[in-house]
Amino acid sequence: MRQKIVAGNWKMNKTRDEALALTSEIVNMVRDEVRGDVQVVVCVPFVYLTSVGKLLETQSNISLGAQNCHQKASGAFTGEISAAMLQSVGTQYVILGHSERRQYFGESNELLKDKVNIVLENGMKPIFCCGETLEQREQGIHFDLVCSQLTESLFHLTPEQFANVVIAYEPIWAIGTGKTATSDQAQEMHAKLRAHIASKYGAAVADATSILYGGSANPGNARELFGQSDVDGGLIGGASLKSRDFLDIIKSF
Ligand code: PEP
Repeated sequence: MRQKIVAGNWKMNKTRDEALALTSEIVNMVRDEVRGDVQVVVCVPFVYLTSVGKLLETQSNISLGAQNCHQKASGAFTGEISAAMLQSVGTQYVILGHSERRQYFGESNELLKDKVNIVLENGMKPIFCCGETLEQREQGIHFDLVCSQLTESLFHLTPEQFANVVIAYEPIWAIGTGKTATSDQAQEMHAKLRAHIASKYGAAVADATSILYGGSANPGNARELFGQSDVDGGLIGGASLKSRDFLDIIKSF
């Protein structure tokens, strides 16, 4: 059985008080309403990791996540945050390669390889994002492109290391646009990715890899998306900022 995961990506939203209020609501709702087999993750802005982490200590199936980290261990990189720093404040997951970071901060597959390495070396799990633009889909190169994102950033890992990676397929045209991939489109890509992982690491590793869907997922479409055989949960942006919506998505399995 693959781990079901629903991860919220708060992006650059919420003040401190708002972040703590949202966390408390999520903690209470998950405790009252969510069965134990779904791993919930909240990926919060760096500055709230410690305080949100304290609130999460009471709820064992909610994990703390960050949204990025620097690729080097330490040093003269003013303004940056290292993997060791994240680990030292209790971070368990780190989103890497989100399309916004690829687009606005020039993150390449090669750079992401180093980030994946340092996150794993520090005992955390990368949530590795991949996905194509609308133009690339229309050109028919989306399968090759997304598979090559995995090949170039992840396929140097040993099978034991790869077992700690979570994949998030996020078609860029669906992120924050209100335009969701159909469940067939999501399933098609997830199955391709799983086959691609199997070609490198074998069927057992591929079958055990959680592949999440991200892109305008909401309480209205999550059930159908999560009902697909190769969709193991979601990476949720906008809808993770409202506790009720986030909870309804978590309960959509
Ligand atoms: C995301 O940012 O990872 C995301 C999926 O955003 P949204 O759900 O808002 O499309």
